[in-house]
Amino acid sequence: MERPTNVVRPRFRAYGRRHIDRVPELRRLSEDQRIALKAASTVLPFRVNDYILRELIDWDDIPNDPIYQLTFPQAGMLDLGDFLRLEDMVVRGEEGDRLRRRVHDIHLRMNPNPAGQKILNVPKVDDERVLGCQHKYRETVLFFPVQGQTCHAYCTYCFRWPQFVGVKDLRFAARGVEQLVRYLREHDEVTDVLITGGDPMVMSASHLRRTIEPLLDPSLAHLRTIRIGTKVLAYWPYRFLTDRDAEDVLRLFDEVRARNRQLAFMAHFSHPRELGTKAAAEAMRRVLGTGAVIRTQAPVIRHVNDRAEVWSEMWRRQLALGAVPYYLFVGRDTGPKQYFRVPLARTLRIVSAAISEVSGLARTVRGPSMSATPGKVLVDGVTTID
Ligand SMILES: *Cc1c(COP(=O)(O)O)cnc(C)c1O
Ligand code: SF4
Repeated sequence: MERPTNVVRPRFRAYGRRHIDRVPELRRLSEDQRIALKAASTVLPFRVNDYILRELIDWDDIPNDPIYQLTFPQAGMLDLGDFLRLEDMVVRGEEGDRLRRRVHDIHLRMNPNPAGQKILNVPKVDDERVLGCQHKYRETVLFFPVQGQTCHAYCTYCFRWPQFVGVKDLRFAARGVEQLVRYLREHDEVTDVLITGGDPMVMSASHLRRTIEPLLDPSLAHLRTIRIGTKVLAYWPYRFLTDRDAEDVLRLFDEVRARNRQLAFMAHFSHPRELGTKAAAEAMRRVLGTGAVIRTQAPVIRHVNDRAEVWSEMWRRQLALGAVPYYLFVGRDTGPKQYFRVPLARTLRIVSAAISEVSGLARTVRGPSMSATPGKVLVDGVTTID
């Protein structure tokens, strides 16, 4: 595969709260907006990179720009009283223990690990819990490798946020793949392993190889599909273009195919703009070139994508690039949910209208789907009682 030669090679660099005064794009915020960002990001960490800042966000439409809402915490995501107290502390330059205690209290009130994510459905092998695994639906085991527990950028609506804020006992990750392999040998009903995070595509090619290769072993012939849950195509498509080990990653995907397994990219796209850059199109072309399939999924989120046209346009672009619309979710009951939530009946109207605007090829999407402790619940109609 050829690398583009006539372009600068973008190198991955992430920016967070401590870069607020240094990132050139953020100097376009007003003083008030910048203070609000400093206050909100004490509780809700943000992480962005040059691709998002330069190619995705429309800086002439701040704060309403959907990608800005997707990646930067907003005042309205916090309880007003909390926000005002934090803002006050930021203005007075109080960044020590008092601030940390206040932030910690707010975190504990935000329902980390919804739907029993941490304690339920952890499988066992020889009476030992297989850490970093979750086995809820018969065919599919989830695996959370420890090196994949961050992302190329954070979504403000993410339900995995506890993993990112350094509250240690809230973390949930596996050290190695050995225990998983032992478990799978005893469970031939499992056809799919879904490697997830965070975003497993933050892992180096060699870590990815150490996770995926053992799963291709002939003793696990019942395993047909390796899925990777990722937002890399939206947040850092250069992973497949200019990252130092881009070619190694693609070669690993080739090998999955060569060993008769399907690699399924469960790609998270929140907005059509993420599919509109040359880098994203080229990255998708390369991933598909390995024989992988790309299936797409995202939640419906107020301020980001709560309009039918946004979804129909997103699906049209996905189809044009060879991806298959797969899931559409209802936002989870965690983090700044009051800011993002869309009523179920309205979500259903958005989905129905969006589906009516696209060709049959996009009607592969399932949803609105809602994750709850017993499993995924499909919202499929509105009914009036009495
Ligand atoms: C969604 C989900 C899966 C995968 O379900 P599919 O419908 O097969 O895509 C597996 N495990 C858990 C816990 C899930 O939430
Ligand atoms: S990419 Fe996924 S795991 Fe990462 S912040 Fe966004 S929703 Fe969360």
